[in-house]
Amino acid sequence: MAAPVLRRCRDWLRIRKLCLRKAAELHGRQAPVAASALCREAREAATRKSRDASWAAVVGLEIHAQICSNSKLFSRSQVQFAAPPNSLVSFFDASLPGTLPTGYQITQQRLPIAVNGTLSYSLCVGKNQNEVITKTVRIKQIQLEQDSGKSLHDDLRSQTLIDLNRAGVGLMEVVMEPDMCSGEEAAAAVRELQLILQTLGSSQANMAEGQLRVDANVSVHRPGQPYGVRTEVKNINSARFLAKAIDYEIRRQIEELENGGTVLNETRTFDFKHGCTIAMRDKEGKQDYRFMPEPNLPPLILHDAKSLPAHGNSQQVVDIDRLRETLPDLPSAKRAKLVERYGIQPQHSFTLLNEDGLMEFFETVLKATEMNPRKVVGWILTDMLGYLKKHNLTIKESPISPSLLAELLNLLGSGRISSPAAKQVLEEMWKGEGKTPTLIVKEKELELIRDRNELEHICQAVMGDHQNEVAEIKKGNQKVMNKLIGQVQKKTRGRADPALVKEILEKLLS
Ligand code: ADP
Repeated sequence: MAAPVLRRCRDWLRIRKLCLRKAAELHGRQAPVAASALCREAREAATRKSRDASWAAVVGLEIHAQICSNSKLFSRSQVQFAAPPNSLVSFFDASLPGTLPTGYQITQQRLPIAVNGTLSYSLCVGKNQNEVITKTVRIKQIQLEQDSGKSLHDDLRSQTLIDLNRAGVGLMEVVMEPDMCSGEEAAAAVRELQLILQTLGSSQANMAEGQLRVDANVSVHRPGQPYGVRTEVKNINSARFLAKAIDYEIRRQIEELENGGTVLNETRTFDFKHGCTIAMRDKEGKQDYRFMPEPNLPPLILHDAKSLPAHGNSQQVVDIDRLRETLPDLPSAKRAKLVERYGIQPQHSFTLLNEDGLMEFFETVLKATEMNPRKVVGWILTDMLGYLKKHNLTIKESPISPSLLAELLNLLGSGRISSPAAKQVLEEMWKGEGKTPTLIVKEKELELIRDRNELEHICQAVMGDHQNEVAEIKKGNQKVMNKLIGQVQKKTRGRADPALVKEILEKLLS
C-alpha cells in the first residue's frame, strides 16, 4: 500500500525542485512565491489529466464538400470563388416566385447516393512521428445537396446582408458515424477525405475557400456507459482548427460535468482567435425541417452488374462498375507504392502526398539522379520544404526546379562537392537568379580538393602546427586523428575530400 504513495511523494518532490529551479531563473528573489504557483499549476494539470482519463470522448463528423462543376446544380449560374456578392444569381437561385423546381433547399437526404461505407485514415505517432497507425471510421451516408446563401455581418451598421452566390451550388454531404475520439483523429480523417476527393476530381476541397466545411459532433461519457449528449461545432474550415475545436469541446464538456453541470444539445461555433467554442443556438426542439418529394426532378439511378436498371434513360443512369474501373490510384495506394518502389519511410510517403505536386517533384528528381531515393527524400523534405514553409511558398512556387535539384544532388553523389558545400549551393539557388549548381560551384570554388599532392602539402602544414597532437597519435591515441582532419577541413573551408585526407594523414603518421 505504501509504495505508490511514496512514489507519488517522490514525484512531487521532484516537481517541486524543478519548479523552484524554473522560478529562480524567471523571478529571482520572488522565486519561492513563483515556485508555489508553478507547483500548484503542475499539480492541477496532473489532476486534470488523471481526471480526463476517466472519461471517453466520441466525435462524429458531417462534411460538406463542394462538387466540381462549372455551374450550379439546377441553374446555369456560374460557380466561382470570391466573385462580387450576388453577381452569380439566377432567378431560380434567388427562389423568385414562379421558378421551378420550387424555391427550397433540395437534398437527397432520404435517398442518399451511398450508405454504409468506410474511410481508412492514418496517424503518424511516436516520439519522432515515425510510427504510422491506421484507423477506420464508418460512413453512414453520402448525399447530394444544394448550398444555401451566406450571411455577411456588418458590425459597424449592425446589419446582416445576404450573398446568394453560393445558393444552389452542388454539395456532397458525407455523414460519419461517431467512431473517432480526438481532434487529431478527426483532422487526419478529414485530411484523407480531402486527398481522396481531390484525387477523384469530385471536389477541389480547398478548405480555405470554403469548398470543404466540417461540422463536428462531440460528446463525452464514462467508459462502459451510453454516449453522452452531443454538441455540434459548426462550419469549421481548417483541419488545424477542427482538431483544436474538438479538443477544446471535449475538455469543456468534462469540466462542465465534473462541476455538476450538464451538456446541452446545442450548436456552437469555434472562435479561432481565442481558441474556444461559443454557444450559438440550442437544439432542444429539433429543427423542424419539412421534407417533401420534388416531382420536377427525375430520379438518379445507380446500378452495378448485380442490379441492372429496369428503366430510365441514359442520362439518369450511372454504371458503378464502369466508374470503378476508371478510378485512379487513391492516396493510400499511392503511398504504399512509394514505400514499396523507393524504400522510403511510410511517414515520408504521407508528407509527399500532403502537398499538391510534391510527389511529382520527388519522382521527377529521382528520374534525373542516381542518388538513393531515401537520400533524395531527405533533401526534399528537410532542406527544401523547410525553406519553402519558412517563406510561405508551395512546392509549385519553388525557385528551385526538379532538374536543378537533381543537378545539385548529382554533384554531391559523384563526390565533386561535399554535403556542407551542397547546402551552400542550395542557399545560393534560393536567390532564384537561375544559376545552375555547376556554375555556383565554379564561381564559389566549392569543388572538393582531390589532388593528392595538394592535400599532402596541406596535411603536412597542419601536422607542423599541431606537434602535440601528432605525438599523441603516435603514442596510439587514434581519437586525436579527427582533430587533425578537422583542421585540414578548416584550412580548406570544408573542401578537402575527407576519405583522402584520412588516408594521407594515416600514411604520414605511420
Ligand atoms: P441526427 O439524425 O439527429 O442528425 P445522426 O445520427 O444523423 O443524428 O448523427 C448526426 C451526426 O452526429 C453524425 O455525424 C454522428 O456521427 C454524430 N453523432 C451522433 N451521436 C453522437 C454522439 N453521441 N456524440 C458525438 N457525435 C454523435
